[in-house]
Amino acid sequence: MTDSPAAPTARVDLVEAPDTVLATLAALRTHDAPTHGGRVLSYVYDPGVPELDELAAGAVRAMQPVNGLDPTTFGSVAALERDVVAFARALLGGDDDTVGTVTSGGTESCLLAVQSARDTWLATRGLRPGEARPRLVAPVTVHAAFQKAAHLYGLELDLVPATAAGPSAGAVDAAAIGARFAGALADDVALVVVSAPSYPHAALDPVGDVAALAAGAGLPLHVDACIGGFALPFWPGLPDWDLRVPGVTSLSADLHKYAFAPKGASVLLHRDRDRQRAQYFATTRWPGYPVVNPTLLGSRSGGPLAAAWAILRALGTDGLATLADRARRATLALRDAVDGPDGTGIEGLRVVGSPVGPLLAVATDDAAPADRRVDPHLWADAVAAHGWTLQAQPGLDQADGTRLPHTTHLTVTPVTEGVLGELVPVLRSAADEVRGRPRPDATALLGALPPLDASAVLDSAAAAALLGAVGLGSVVDGSDAEPAPGVGPMAPLLALVESLPAPLVERLLVELLARLVEPRPS
Ligand SMILES: *Cc1c(COP(=O)(O)O)cnc(C)c1O
Repeated sequence: MTDSPAAPTARVDLVEAPDTVLATLAALRTHDAPTHGGRVLSYVYDPGVPELDELAAGAVRAMQPVNGLDPTTFGSVAALERDVVAFARALLGGDDDTVGTVTSGGTESCLLAVQSARDTWLATRGLRPGEARPRLVAPVTVHAAFQKAAHLYGLELDLVPATAAGPSAGAVDAAAIGARFAGALADDVALVVVSAPSYPHAALDPVGDVAALAAGAGLPLHVDACIGGFALPFWPGLPDWDLRVPGVTSLSADLHKYAFAPKGASVLLHRDRDRQRAQYFATTRWPGYPVVNPTLLGSRSGGPLAAAWAILRALGTDGLATLADRARRATLALRDAVDGPDGTGIEGLRVVGSPVGPLLAVATDDAAPADRRVDPHLWADAVAAHGWTLQAQPGLDQADGTRLPHTTHLTVTPVTEGVLGELVPVLRSAADEVRGRPRPDATALLGALPPLDASAVLDSAAAAALLGAVGLGSVVDGSDAEPAPGVGPMAPLLALVESLPAPLVERLLVELLARLVEPRPS
């Protein structure tokens, strides 16, 4: 650090003492879901190693004043990024020609992969953005970040249905993906995407087979390993799924998931330098400094990069392997708890498909008699009442007429292993509490809604009124002074989400989240 110690210090009268400010912050934090200890099985990735938290905090502090906008001015940024990309490419099957970028997270890595593919597709045809809408082909289980990318970058999203039921539920067939770009159909495809594994059900897509088909058609293939990237390298017995597979042209892996970095760090690798260069934005056509941005942001903190770098250095491949192993043992134990053989599992529930990696989804076991079935969302709410947070996922109607069931998602971390003795009994007793109870019926809630004109554009006031009508008024008007984590029981909310047209629900959720951060009336 070369910050000059000789800089003159100015006196400013503070209106609030730093200690008071920090005390207020700590008080606000007490209402959050716990980030450590394994009670929240999504969003947070706790390695259970307190030194890593301290290390990350120290690294963030050291880099706090640095602007990652310009690695020529702040050479440390370039050095750290080189190290992180080198680590990731060695772990993920790259070689000396593999290049990469540290981004702010999985969404940004996915956005940039799509933008680079779109711009490469356009450039080879002499077209400019807006002059054509190329296709993005992916399984329907691909992360929503790709829907966002298609929306932002003007691509047609061509989603391939997944198997809806049976032992391969959640999986997609390579031939079904390949059929979307067979022969002349390949002409308008800018990118094919598969997941390793998918977030909703932890399905490891058939990377090798899709890569062979994509390469045969001359198409780039992105592997979204945002969640699996730093865990699957340590999973025994998997087929190749990363840059070892010829035909995989780019790959995203989140440092802030199974590399246990604080939020704000992911890596996007490209096999090919030119495709990565297409991801950059550069302009000299303004009267300011020449702009060269590898990512979406301009000025950016060096903190998350430094924290990720520090954690990778401290853990190394061996440390990641040890932690991945803990998460793996915990995942297998949870799978067994739900799905174990000979009546050792939880009656009425089943694990969806054949999950790969430290995550899984749980659905109703339709093979059980109706009065012994367990609804996964009622189960998640019952589990929540015991102090553990699982993630409710809606069902989805697919283009082929089949329906992916509604599920409850569990992301498993190294600390989960240490709390299995508490968690597994809770999973069992919560299922006992709700077994045989049907899923909440959204009809009553729907009945509370005024007649809706599906084509009408809802303004903010109308959207807020609808939220009030379905019982979310206190979230909307801020009368929940000290909100508990979440917005209440998920089962009725998700039932409502599934019974209304998607554009309407999406608008209502926007209103809910937007109202949540509006300043309260003074
Ligand atoms: C988490 C995740 C993303 C998006 O990452 P964010 O860091 O939440 O933006 C993309 N793809 C997969 C498979 C993920 O699990």
